[in-house]
Amino acid sequence: MVTIRQKLVTASQAVKITNGKNNAKKYIVVHETDNTNIGADADAHARLQVNGNSRQASWHWQVDDKEAVQSFEHYWECWGAGTYIGNKQGIQVEICVNSDGNYLKAVQNAASLIAKIIKDENIALQNIVQHNYFSGKNCPRNIRAGKSTLDAIY
Ligand SMILES: [Zn+2]
Repeated sequence: MVTIRQKLVTASQAVKITNGKNNAKKYIVVHETDNTNIGADADAHARLQVNGNSRQASWHWQVDDKEAVQSFEHYWECWGAGTYIGNKQGIQVEICVNSDGNYLKAVQNAASLIAKIIKDENIALQNIVQHNYFSGKNCPRNIRAGKSTLDAIY
């Protein structure tokens, strides 16, 4: 099991970058950060969100090859999926692709985290989807290119 910790965005900050607290928690939406910079790991992305991300974006979890860090409780409707329904019903999980990290280990950790979340939140297996499912964006890019799979969770 991957190491999990919380570094939560404050509620006063969260209301500015979410649609509120009524997430239906029906889907897991899998993303990759697309940030290959050295040091762009889970902690860096969690700090970005806690410090007030200037982008109109937010996500619940970031996972790297060492840990999973939670930024928002699952009831928040984060802005990650690119569509209203995807944000309203999805728990957004970002997989880090920093070049100094082990990508396949990060995917494995994400699978481990997702297995825990679907159990905790009673989410159906078939509702683990890619960001692409909602908006057509090429995300998660490396998984979509066949560089890994999420088969480990089955
Ligand atoms: Zn995405």
